[in-house]
Amino acid sequence: MTRTTDQTKMYAPERSQSDADLGFATRAIHFGYDPVGFSNAVQPPVFLTSTYGFESVAANEAAAALGGKLYAREYNPTTEILEKRLANLEGAEAGLVVASGMAAFGTLILSLLSQGDELIVHKTLYANTLAMVEQAVPRFGIKVVAVDLSEPNNLDGAITDRTRLVFFETPVNPLSRILDIAEIAERAHARGVKIAVDSTFASPALQRPLEHGADIVIHSLTKYINGHGDALGGAVLGDAKTLHTLHETGLRYITGAALSPMSAFMILRGLKTLTIRMERHSATALTVAQALEVHPAVAWASYPFLDSHPDQAIARKQMSKGSGMLAFGLHAGFEGARRMMDRLNLITRAVSLGDADSLIYHPASLTRARKSIRKDAHLADGVGEDLMRLSVGLEDAEDLIVDLRQALDVLR
Ligand code: PLP
Repeated sequence: MTRTTDQTKMYAPERSQSDADLGFATRAIHFGYDPVGFSNAVQPPVFLTSTYGFESVAANEAAAALGGKLYAREYNPTTEILEKRLANLEGAEAGLVVASGMAAFGTLILSLLSQGDELIVHKTLYANTLAMVEQAVPRFGIKVVAVDLSEPNNLDGAITDRTRLVFFETPVNPLSRILDIAEIAERAHARGVKIAVDSTFASPALQRPLEHGADIVIHSLTKYINGHGDALGGAVLGDAKTLHTLHETGLRYITGAALSPMSAFMILRGLKTLTIRMERHSATALTVAQALEVHPAVAWASYPFLDSHPDQAIARKQMSKGSGMLAFGLHAGFEGARRMMDRLNLITRAVSLGDADSLIYHPASLTRARKSIRKDAHLADGVGEDLMRLSVGLEDAEDLIVDLRQALDVLR
């Protein structure tokens, strides 16, 4: 971000601050991109190339010896800007971006763990991460141990000398429960084990797990960080040595799940408004959660910054705001959820989250439907048949509440 030529003074006059002094929102817009190197283009260019040409064999060899900027699976200038910016925002030494959030988790596990190793996970996870740790990871001889990390001392009995990593989400998808990053990190580190946190539900604007002792952070960039529901992406952020391994083996030849440069550009564009979007998502979600909680048809509502939330104190310790994700259930249970959701006019029935549009999803209905093609499909531990997950978008809070109320009122 350091601008060097006189020409740049036209738009970057005499900046005395160093990058380290700049605030989060400023870095989300500028960090890692110097227009001077790119024809003064204010927005970063999209490098649509699969390979790079060299002026001589010696130059090609020199690039290969440095770890290679030879081919677009391992290097692209647009994705590199995104990696630097995300690493900076999370307070990490380095970052890697890949094709999706699942690719981020796959790259992490398949690069760092080997046959005979053990992986500890929290018992409730995003449905496809759960499928991966239940169905796929054990096939490679890696033992997966599911633990209730809402009691961090459960780790003590679960860690063995073969444990390589502890992995969990916070907030937890889809329950919006909160796990104590600092407590879990302290217990894992005492036994020499690293922890990786999926911080997708919060984004770095609200929660930076490395500041609380985590070693690695992963994100589905598809969600809040892109924020507009029009691109898939994933990221892993952490120390330079681990990230080097993930780049050199994980991306290069284990998964090959490179992020498209066009998607990197879209995600960089989304990132510019992350700070302000997360403020609005959080404020609206709190208002919606409060309205849901007092509706007579609603049996329970889970939102981290609600006074009734069991983990509110942990949430306030490690998150600056509550984000836009909430879960709730009705007295009318499974059938009530389906009836209510079918009456919604504004809120869209869809999976995914973190978009400008509010999205609602009923895991039990979709899990039942999936059983016809996957016999082993099941709800994650702690997810009831009544649970609906609401990703509160950027619409006016009052409009969302009116839509929810008219749908709920028939169930009173
Ligand atoms: N992690 C969490 C918490 C998620 O909610 C999701 C997707 O919903 C993922 C990871 C996977 O991300 P992607 O859909 O980008 O593969």
